[in-house]
Amino acid sequence: MSRFLTEKPFIGLKIRGYVSITPDVNELVRKADMEKIDTVWHRFQYQQPQCGFGLTGVCCRHCNTGPCRVDPFGYGFQTGTCGATPDLIASRDLLDLVAHGVATRLQEALIMLKTAKAVAEGSTKAYGLKNPGRLKEITDILGIKAETDTELLAKLVELLETEINRITDEPLVTALKFVPEDVVEKWEKNDLLPRGLAREFFEANYRSNMGTDSDPISVVKQAIRLAIADGLLATFTTTIMDEILLGDKAPGKGKSGLGIIKPENVNIFIRVLPVFAGKIKMAAQDPELVEMAKKAGAKGIAVIIPSGNMIMQELPIITGLTEVMVVDHQCIYPYIVEIAKKYHTKIVIIDPVAKLPGAIHMPMTPENASEVAKEIVKLAIENYANRKKDKIYQPVHVSEFTTNPTLNGLRQAFGGSLKPIADAIKRGDVKGVVVLHHCTNPKVKHNYSHYNIAKKLIENDVLVFAMGCSMMAVALTGLAKPETLKQAGDGLKKLLAIYNLPPVIPLGPCPENTRELFVLYEIAKELGVPFTKAPFAASAPEWMNGKAMSAVLYYLAHGMLSHVGTVPQIAAAPGIEEFLTKEMEKITGGRLVIEPDPFEASEIILKHLEKKKI
Ligand code: SF4
Ligand code: SF4
Repeated sequence: MSRFLTEKPFIGLKIRGYVSITPDVNELVRKADMEKIDTVWHRFQYQQPQCGFGLTGVCCRHCNTGPCRVDPFGYGFQTGTCGATPDLIASRDLLDLVAHGVATRLQEALIMLKTAKAVAEGSTKAYGLKNPGRLKEITDILGIKAETDTELLAKLVELLETEINRITDEPLVTALKFVPEDVVEKWEKNDLLPRGLAREFFEANYRSNMGTDSDPISVVKQAIRLAIADGLLATFTTTIMDEILLGDKAPGKGKSGLGIIKPENVNIFIRVLPVFAGKIKMAAQDPELVEMAKKAGAKGIAVIIPSGNMIMQELPIITGLTEVMVVDHQCIYPYIVEIAKKYHTKIVIIDPVAKLPGAIHMPMTPENASEVAKEIVKLAIENYANRKKDKIYQPVHVSEFTTNPTLNGLRQAFGGSLKPIADAIKRGDVKGVVVLHHCTNPKVKHNYSHYNIAKKLIENDVLVFAMGCSMMAVALTGLAKPETLKQAGDGLKKLLAIYNLPPVIPLGPCPENTRELFVLYEIAKELGVPFTKAPFAASAPEWMNGKAMSAVLYYLAHGMLSHVGTVPQIAAAPGIEEFLTKEMEKITGGRLVIEPDPFEASEIILKHLEKKKI
């Protein structure tokens, strides 16, 4: 057993003020204070002050000659022992970060491909081909033909697997077929067009190795190519397979907030891919298991699919009302097992590859998903009796929101196509489209930047789509429900009111981030302008990991303004910062904007959209 698991590291540093703009979060952090539990916000406090070398990107541990560090203010010797400059040190770290993120996205894609393959071969009863229309739409674009739907699915899986495994020089097929021509042309001219994913991964590791590629711009370009391959192959696969296998979804009614949890139920919190989440939900409706829960004294079984964003993952345990928490690999804090020990919650990890010491490992596959789901529900029912009555806290905050549609669901919600959005932009009613994406980060007040950027944009007639933890931020703060449309500008109201849509439209969890690209491609097509001329921007107000940075870079590569609120670790690497914030504009038309203040960031985005007015 590791040292980590036997220690009790509570130091007793209490949180001052409010960590979040979401009330239940603050209340549960207070409860944690009183019960001597270190949440992520406590642990972040223990890290202060963070090391300036690391924060500014000039600490290198790429070989055992190091660690080497360079003074970020220009004093002293200005390279590491081998001669690596601040730009090279920061660029290699950026590339490593992106590679880690894309590897996670690839794992999700592989799970979806395995599931699709099992469906095509008929070796699973747990899943089926629910959306042949979307399959046909995708395979038509890729030029794949077959006699039957299952053959078509098998051929699509084969093509995607080939592109994932391909190490040769040819460009990525999905990028050539799906990305607007003007963007592909810029990538071709500037050495940014990705090849197969295996090739891009190989080159990422090759270039960032000590003493290999010593040109920081070449290293950053590799990060961008890998990021594009993520958006056009890894999250691409997860997005389309989710739609093909699980079917289309129209915008629906949902509830977020920790108040969803009810003491009378057996509660199972899940942070897993939708393909497995659905199976656990289904198992919870099994009449035998419902009966078993009633015999255990509960009213029913509740499976709660993220009621909040990733940074809130520890809080359901602290309510004392969570019997089981099921996780995979999606930004899981290893510390949840430590917190679970103080309550009665059991942590189950279902990822077939990743491990979590202290958790119960129940790997889920397309073949065993239904059985494992039932085992998880049974475990939760058995654990219901173990609640510690003196530790129970019932949060009250519940916020209604419009649940995310698939691409087709969105088209239907707008009457059949995304043309009404394009028409509203052409009329000048809507100033442009902004995609809000990714994480939350304890470096900033939880949800504050997501909320304020989205609010400012909708007040100024910008249509906002949100994904991942950003989607949960707008759900929790009430911006993703139709009733909030009254806060929007008149032009945006005119577009959305007839369809009963909210001012910020959720588009799904972050593994399906490519849906945002699909939506933007389609709006640009309806506008009849080259993609890089369209009034689009992206914002990751509280990003924190390589998955998010990958998306930041692929939006940038698409010629979009790509904003980040939390500062990337490149501040002491002027060449890299110059390349991403200025030079890229000459290459693709896109630029990185680093602006922590959400109000300043909104102004910059609005000015950018004004410049791109059609
Ligand atoms: S790669 Fe160079 S800068 Fe980095 S740790 Fe090794 S010697 Fe130091
Ligand atoms: S949005 Fe970011 S923090 Fe949230 S689940 Fe995705 S990668 Fe993790």
